This record gives sequence, C-alpha cells and structure tokens, in this order.
Amino acid sequence: MASPATAIGDPLAVLEAVFGFKGFRPGQNEVITAVLAGEDVLAVMPTGSGKSLCYQLPALMRSGLTVVVSPLIALMQDQVGQLVGCGVAAASLNSAADPAENRRIVQAIRSGELRLLYVAPERLTRPDTLDDLCRARIDLLAIDEAHCVSQWGHDFRPEYLALGQVRERLGGVQTIALTATADAPTRDDIAGKLFSRPPRTFVRSFDRPNLYLSMLPKANARRQLLGFLAARREQSGIVYCASRKRTETLAALFNAEGFRALPYHAGLEPATRSANQSTFLRQDGVVMVATVAFGMGIDKPDVRFVCHAEMPKTIESYYQEIGRAGRDGLAADTLTLYGLDDLQFRRRQIEDSELPEERKRIEQHRLNALLALCEAPRCRRQTLLAYFGESSGPCDNCDLCLERPQIFEATIEAQKAMSAILRTGERFATEHLIALLTGEATEAIERYGHNTLKTFGVGKERSAGEWRSIFRQLYAAGVIHLDIVRHGRWSVTEYGRRILRGEAAIQLRQDVLSGARPGRERGK
Ligand code: ADP
Ligand code: ZN
Repeated sequence: MASPATAIGDPLAVLEAVFGFKGFRPGQNEVITAVLAGEDVLAVMPTGSGKSLCYQLPALMRSGLTVVVSPLIALMQDQVGQLVGCGVAAASLNSAADPAENRRIVQAIRSGELRLLYVAPERLTRPDTLDDLCRARIDLLAIDEAHCVSQWGHDFRPEYLALGQVRERLGGVQTIALTATADAPTRDDIAGKLFSRPPRTFVRSFDRPNLYLSMLPKANARRQLLGFLAARREQSGIVYCASRKRTETLAALFNAEGFRALPYHAGLEPATRSANQSTFLRQDGVVMVATVAFGMGIDKPDVRFVCHAEMPKTIESYYQEIGRAGRDGLAADTLTLYGLDDLQFRRRQIEDSELPEERKRIEQHRLNALLALCEAPRCRRQTLLAYFGESSGPCDNCDLCLERPQIFEATIEAQKAMSAILRTGERFATEHLIALLTGEATEAIERYGHNTLKTFGVGKERSAGEWRSIFRQLYAAGVIHLDIVRHGRWSVTEYGRRILRGEAAIQLRQDVLSGARPGRERGK
C-alpha cells in the first residue's frame, strides 16, 4: 500500500492530490520549504493553524520514514485515521494496540513501506523500538507538542527529555519541533533540549485581530455579566467559570433573566453533557456556561463572545480560551473579569499544591504575568503579543485603546525601581527589592548589607503593595525583565536604560495601584 504521492514533486500538487486543499495556510509554506531543504526547524504556530501538515507533506515527498512523536494517543489515532483515509501509508505504535498489530507495523517499518509512523514518547524510547528504527531509513523526526520538553512550560512531560538523545541515537536525524506555546523562556528551552545546534525558528503571529479584548476588575460580577450578555442577545457564546458549581449557579441565573444558558462541566452525566454540547453546536443564541473542560476539539466557527467570569489560569490558557470566539474571522467580543479573590485563591492553590518548590515559583511568576496583562496601562493586544515575543502597535480594538485608563507620570518611580535592581547587581527578586525601596531592614537586606546602599528607603512614600503593582506594570511595559528560570531575578532592559538616562518617560496606571495586594512572591 505504497502512497500514491511519493512520485509527485511539487508541494502544491501533493497538497491538492492527497489532502484536497487548494493552498497553504499562512506560515505553512515557509516551514515546509525549510523542512524540504533539510533544515532543523522549530515552528511556533497557534492552535488550529495547521501544524501537522508541516511534517505530513514533506513526509509524502520523500522516500524514507517520518517518525512523529505525539503525547496524546487519541489525537495520534485520529491523525492516522485521516491519513489512511487520504491513501497515505501511516500507522501508530502504541501500548493501546494489540501485539499482533504492533508486530505488523514493525514489519512495515522494516520493509520501508510506511511513510509516517506515530509513536508515543515512552514507546519511542524503548530499546527495541529504537533498534527497529535504526534499521529503517528515517528522513525526519517530527516532535509535536514540543513544549512538553520544557519544565517552564505548562505541560511538562519527563519522557520528552529523552528525545534529544533519541535524535542522536537515530544518527542526528533532521528534526522539526512544533508547538503552540511561544513564551521566550519555553522556546529557548525547547531549542536547547531537542537540538544540538540552534534550529531555524518560525513564529507565526498569534494575533487574532477580529477579537475585541477587554478586562475588568470584578465589581459586581453578576451585574457585569448580565450587562455583557444583554448587549449580545441571540448570539452564541461561552462563559468560562472556575468551578463546576459556579457554572450551574450562573446558568440558572442567566436562564432566570431570560437567556438560553446551559451548564457544562466534567461532573455532569455524560448524556447531559453531550446533549448540552450538541445544543450549543447546532442552535444559535445559546450561552454555554462552562469550566475549561469545554472547548478542546470543539469547532464552532460562529462563537460571537467568550467571557471569563473568573480570572483564567495563565496567559496561555486565556489566549486559548478567548481563541474559541470568532473562528470565522468575523468580529467577536471577549471580556475577562478578574478580582483579588481569584488572585489570592490561585496563589494559595499553587502554594498548597504538591508541586516541587521550583515549579511553584514558576507558577507564581506566570500568575504575575497574567496580572500584568490585567493591569496593563496601554494596548492590551500589544501587551499580550509582547508576552508571546511579538512586537506590534496599538490595535484600536481593545478596551485600553478605546478608553485610556487613568495614568500617572511614573518616570521617577521607574528610575528608583531600576536603580534598586542595578545597585544589587540584577540578582534579586521582587520582595527583596521592595524591602530595599521601602527601607525595610529584613534579615536578607542586612545580610547583604543592602541597608547601606543609597537606594535603601528611597521609595518610602509608596507602600509595598503599590511597588508590587509598579513592578508588574514596568514588566508589562518592557522596562524591566523578569528571569523566570533563574529565581525570578529582575534586570533592566534597553528601553529601561533609556528611561534611566532620562531619554524616555513612562506613565503607569493609577487605578490599579491600590488594592491588588498579592501574596508572597518568593525569591532571594
Ligand atoms: P494544529 O495542529 O496547528 O492545531 P492541525 O494540524 O490539526 O492544526 O490542523 C487544523 C485543521 O486545519 C485540520 O482540520 C486540517 O486538516 C486543516 N488544514 C491544515 N492545513 C490546511 C490547508 N492548507 N488548507 C485547508 N485546511 C487545512
Ligand atoms: Zn489595543
């Protein structure tokens, strides 16, 4: 059952003949060209942008085998099913299949008739699998969900750590790593762990210009939510909640107020759950009040709004959840409510979790980054995209672009914060620096002799809580940089140095200064 496509040499022709697609999606062509040229590639592309094609198509244009590592057996079987349906010789090796089937596949690997082999990482690293593969001719190793290799990512899988060695074992075979998670530390970590040389890196824009972005501090959440819905009657939308119980109480409230709302969470009877889901998919004007269990793999192009009744978990999950709106490219609205209670709850949840200390610290920093987005003083989309490593101008399609928040001249505060960072050698975390600024002689301040610095107490006029907000805002504005990997140390960026020299000024948000008092942020 050799693939009919092996002989065809033009990517577009293969694309149409095998997959029935008329053209490439944005970003695919560049990646595929680099892969066909033999380069190692790291491709960062948003979910739904068509990452799989970036290795499937090259696989069909070569005579050897492409090995695809994927962590989710269900998705793996899905893809193999689709490929086989397109007439492609593809198979998956996994522990769920019966031994006879696996033996048949090993036979197909040896005889060279397979084009694509999907393997779970734990199966790939088994010595017998590696032996079999070493005897086959492998053209390409494709590592899907590559962020799983990173401890700083949100989905770390220890099995992924062995993949760098697997690659060597397979003779340093050409590799493409793909992920939808793009923050800079994770990206560097992936490159360092999977490749021996820096790969050619492609980052596809994460911008979704048709989504209106807005965030509000919770005042009266019920009233805020009802107001939002009232302006969007007859539209389909999702309201995300932090707990199962809350989905039910809010759905009941919305129904009582004349909306058509249905709850959705993992604790519902399977029959109810799938009935609610199909009502939402088939009918217009239904509001799904759901936990984050809802959304994965659900493809409804005309979702007109996504609302977070509570603060999302991280910027990545925020991005993914709002991304379920407006897939048809038409305008869609998003609103995120955030409150101090959410923040305290999440901090406690992280502290009380079973995570190792190192991970807890990273999770706290992720939370701070999200809070920085909530409190951003300028274009929200600019701040969001900057988090994913993209620079852009103001968008005119977010709450902060349409209505500038109350701001204050913060150049002096920024200079004080940066001088605290610089005078201590860019080696300290938030709480230590704030103690230095407010003149609090903690044990650590005395141990390092920082109470003798000129900066000691120079920021007394502001409270520690205000300084925390100033640090977050300076971070969101790109004035100072937080090294999440190395103990939450702060450093000063090039832009920050210009402010320090008096060549640039900075304004920050006044309205968020008071109140937002986070729990402890640990570090040095
Ligand atoms: P990702 O892994 O980036 O989330 P997938 O690879 O699963 O995305 O692709 C998402 C969907 O887009 C799939 O249904 C796929 O068949 C479709 N798709 C991919 N490339 C194209 C294309 N060039 N033209 C049309 N549809 C495409
Ligand atoms: Zn904007």
